Amino acid sequence: MIFNFSAGPAMLPAPVLEKAQRELVNWQGLGISVMEISHRDPVYVKMTEEAEQDLRDLMSIPNNYSVLFMHGGGRGQFSAVPLNIASSDATVDYLNSGIWSGYAIREAKKYVRVVNEVAHVIDGPDGKIIPPLSDWSLSPNASYLHYCPNETVDGMALHEVPDVTVPVVADMSSSILSEPLDVSRFGIIYAGAQKNIGPSGLSVVIIRNDLLEATAQNQVCTVMNYKIQAAEKSMYNTPNTFAWYLAAEVFKWLKAEGGLPAMAELNQRKSELIYECVDNSSFYHNTIAPQNRSRMNIPFQLVNPALDEEFLRRAEKEGLMSLKGHRFVGGMRASLYNAMPYDGAKALVDFMTRFAKEYQ
Ligand SMILES: *Cc1c(COP(=O)(O)O)cnc(C)c1O
Repeated sequence: MIFNFSAGPAMLPAPVLEKAQRELVNWQGLGISVMEISHRDPVYVKMTEEAEQDLRDLMSIPNNYSVLFMHGGGRGQFSAVPLNIASSDATVDYLNSGIWSGYAIREAKKYVRVVNEVAHVIDGPDGKIIPPLSDWSLSPNASYLHYCPNETVDGMALHEVPDVTVPVVADMSSSILSEPLDVSRFGIIYAGAQKNIGPSGLSVVIIRNDLLEATAQNQVCTVMNYKIQAAEKSMYNTPNTFAWYLAAEVFKWLKAEGGLPAMAELNQRKSELIYECVDNSSFYHNTIAPQNRSRMNIPFQLVNPALDEEFLRRAEKEGLMSLKGHRFVGGMRASLYNAMPYDGAKALVDFMTRFAKEYQ
């Protein structure tokens, strides 16, 4: 049995992969694969419409929002957002809660005059925290506020949606579909697919329709133009047809599993198990204050880093894969996306407990 803790591209639900394998050379009885059919064929178009409807059902997306299936992964949106909804002389607000926020900020600086960092991570009494909204230096005239609710590398999360008057834009690449959400609180939600949706390269954008009318900058390239992609039903050019199909299968799987309430409960249980193991041990530690801990990506360190390699080697021997932390952070990281079963978290904690006992 293999449990894959990769941060992304990450594990996909086994039943989805098995179904894709079964129908790879003969999709919907057509005798050809889903990759070999026109994206304008009614059979394919029907699949995309069902995918959108399933996502709308799962996330309770209101009718005044459009759903786009775009190219360029998560990072493609770092430039698409400012280019589509902010003029070049605008001010935009960004929360800097970790590495991905930092990349988004750097990219935005290329396209708008003022990128205001409203707050960054600080040390609190129980570990690193994101300062409360009341301490943020918000601009009075920002075109939007951008934040990353779940920082995949740092393992930090903001568990409440910032209550501000400007449109809120969220990079949910590593947390979309992990729990129920009030979409109406957001202007734009976007996500690269390879963590909780499907294959890499695809990105999902959920955008409030009035923002489609924002004046896009002249230089926004047409495949990244929200208004055009919305009008063209994400088929201005040939979409990543296979990734879209696989995403559609993941949405169906999520519905059958009980939707986002079931995922939230599962993700809560998995993450609690691991944090409990880390907190109750003097062998492992995690530097993030409880209120800002991620439920998707859990970084932890061995107090003695000389044992890191042995930990990883032994874990892999037991089928616990991809636990090495990001190269910027070191240590370990366990990513627990929707496809990770509870038994995966249990197997990891069981291994961590035995390893600590042996090397304490
Ligand atoms: C993975 C990730 C990205 C980058 O996605 P790409 O598809 O590689 O561009 C951006 N933001 C967050 C929060 C991520 O986890």
